[in-house]
This record gives sequence, C-alpha cells and structure tokens, in this order.
Amino acid sequence: MLKSTKVYSVFANKCPHCHEGSFFTSNYAYNLATFHKMNDMCSVCGEDFKKEPGFYYGAMYMSYGLTVGVAVVWAILLNLFNMYAAFVYVITFAPIIIALFPIMYRSARLGYINVFVHYNKEFKRLVSE
Ligand SMILES: [Zn+2]
Repeated sequence: MLKSTKVYSVFANKCPHCHEGSFFTSNYAYNLATFHKMNDMCSVCGEDFKKEPGFYYGAMYMSYGLTVGVAVVWAILLNLFNMYAAFVYVITFAPIIIALFPIMYRSARLGYINVFVHYNKEFKRLVSE
C-alpha cells in the first residue's frame, strides 16, 4: 500500500524513481562505517543519485526541520511528565540528537531527493528480466 509513496522511499532506503534499488549502500543506519555511503546510481533503473556537486546542501534544511521537530516533541514530552527545566532539556536532548544522527542524515538526504525525483511505476529497467 505504501510502496508508491515517498514515505516508503525514505524509510525503506529505496530509489525515489523506481522504489526498488537501494539509495544507500547499507540498509542498516547504525553501522557507523557505512551509514553515509550512497550508491552513485540506482542499480535497477539507473537514476542518478549524485545529481550535481553540492546537490545535497539542501538536505541540511531538511535535517534542520527534523531536528526542530524532535526538539519540540521532546519539550512536549518533558512538559507532560512535569520534568521540564532548561538544564534537564539540554542535558537530555544532546544524547538524543546524537543517537538519532544516522537516521536524520539518511532521512534528510532521501527526503530531499524525493522532492525532485518522483515515483514512476513504468520505469525502464537497466537490465530486462
Ligand atoms: Zn531506481
């Protein structure tokens, strides 16, 4: 059901054009040696993942938005449990954002390329079956 959505592409590490090839070389975000390594192009449809030099600078804005979202949710949760104090917020937020970094990094890049590349279920395969 989600297969044709951008959400599927972002969370399943799939090519934004065909939703079949992998965007990052590893599906595991917490392997610190490989979580950031991207394929140059989609192995299924040939979509170019490295559009131009500096293309992913725009993903920083996406990452910023995700970080602000986590910050707001964390502030609301601390308030709900009556634990909100500035020092508690800062001390607890830093480890959370560091722990979420690989996921945020990958989501921001995949989200950003999904703004420009749209799913096409009638894509051409590089190698016909
Ligand atoms: Zn593809």
